[in-house]
Amino acid sequence: MNKSEHLEGGCICGQVKYQITDKPLFTQACHCKDCKVLTGSSYVVNTSVLENTLMIDGEVSTTKLTAGSGAASRAFFCTKCGTYLYTDYDSAVGRLNVRTKTLKESDKFPPQAHIFLKDKDPWLNLSEDVNCFEKMYDAKTTWPKESLERYKEYLKTRSK
Ligand SMILES: [Zn+2]
Ligand SMILES: [Zn+2]
Repeated sequence: MNKSEHLEGGCICGQVKYQITDKPLFTQACHCKDCKVLTGSSYVVNTSVLENTLMIDGEVSTTKLTAGSGAASRAFFCTKCGTYLYTDYDSAVGRLNVRTKTLKESDKFPPQAHIFLKDKDPWLNLSEDVNCFEKMYDAKTTWPKESLERYKEYLKTRSK
């Protein structure tokens, strides 16, 4: 991606803006109970990006959370308006999960999978052709090959 193609996003009050400097890896919708509470809605849409491609400009605060699976995560919010911008999951080494709808062009990133459909709201109807999973999926068989390879390459170079 050259600079003009960087993806942009931010919070609702404008204090925090961000750029994503390379193509995201994968976008998914999660219907689990935790995501319902965190969003105050029926599901969340997250876009996974390599950790070194998210550039934050502005002040964010963080809270440590524990997922139903027991895995820890850190949620990042605008310190002024509280918009939940992204999550760092311990289980997703080297990646950050940006809240897709905080992207300016979020329509370009529809969910490539819907997960935890066991908790889906019964009145919510999804199209027949979306990729659905009762719980979690195996990235190896669900992600596009290009994303898997880019992620694998990044992990090799990662020094933390
Ligand atoms: Zn804000
Ligand atoms: Zn969830």
